[in-house]
Amino acid sequence: MTSLAQEHNGNLGQPSPLRERYSRQILFPGIGEEGQQKLAAARVAIVGCGATGSALAGLLARAGVGTLRIVDRDYVEPSNLQRQSLFDESDAAESLPKAIAAARKIAAFNSQIVVEPKVDDVVPANIEALLKGSDLILDGTDNFETRYLINDYAVERSLPWIYSAAVGSYAVTLNVVPGQTACLACIFPDSPHGMVETCETSGILNSAVNLVASIAATEALKCVVLGADAPRIRRTLLSFDVWTNEHAEISAAKPRPDCRACGERDFIHLAGEGRPHITLCGRNSVQIHERQRPIDFVEMDRRLQPHGIVRHNDFVLKFWREPYEMTLFPDGRAIIKGTTDTALARSLYARYVGS
Ligand SMILES: [Zn+2]
Repeated sequence: MTSLAQEHNGNLGQPSPLRERYSRQILFPGIGEEGQQKLAAARVAIVGCGATGSALAGLLARAGVGTLRIVDRDYVEPSNLQRQSLFDESDAAESLPKAIAAARKIAAFNSQIVVEPKVDDVVPANIEALLKGSDLILDGTDNFETRYLINDYAVERSLPWIYSAAVGSYAVTLNVVPGQTACLACIFPDSPHGMVETCETSGILNSAVNLVASIAATEALKCVVLGADAPRIRRTLLSFDVWTNEHAEISAAKPRPDCRACGERDFIHLAGEGRPHITLCGRNSVQIHERQRPIDFVEMDRRLQPHGIVRHNDFVLKFWREPYEMTLFPDGRAIIKGTTDTALARSLYARYVGS
């Protein structure tokens, strides 16, 4: 991409397309032309592209962050459309992976930035490959397991990251600047009890999602433009309930000396062996992790035909056998809907895909 400076030199006195696109943001004194160039050069990773991830990716893509890597393990469903702003009905009808659908949608409104979609689940074995080269990591996940893993990775490599969560009408966010602020494990040494509620048990308001994404996206802009150590970067755990108007800020200005992650540098989540099964947020389903089993969708489609209804595209194969629905990804990973029983899900997988 041509830098604004190059464009300026080449088009003296002429408004350039880039300058025009970002003109209202360049006018904002906190960003300016120099800030806009820093955004163009920035590489930001967004882990999880559901509701919060969609909103974060949409805001940062429109703001001109030059490279966005979007990592998500899931596919679009009709129940996502109430709050997941990058997706539409045709994405749900096609069961498109969210990372792919997000990249397509962003390309339609900003073709001048690079989006790197990764259809994968972040686990200890692949986090380095998935997040390598990023300047900043944003949390669009729905679970503390992945957040602790991101926290370990970011603290170990001294990378800033921003925790964001929304459930019900409640939104909460924290900037983690390793070595300077508290990290996620300083504040929550264990998964917080009050926040183990999921979208499935508590529902979710799209406005709570957009609030937390707006705050986190602005902190991300500040991180890129001013630097993660700038005084403007918020150093609190900020929470807001958009229904009750209750809000709070807890200081996160200093690391806790006895913190397992940033104090003792004991990265138990990074060293973990990964997770064999996961029950996903917002559904009655189990994920089977397999990454050593490349699937030939044409062959698998033919093999499953006698057992139920099968459909596939380039990205996913779906197999319906009442009362279950199995979604297979090309690397062998599967999401089995219709049960939360991991043993049953494993046996369905073994029967229809392989053991
Ligand atoms: Zn810590």
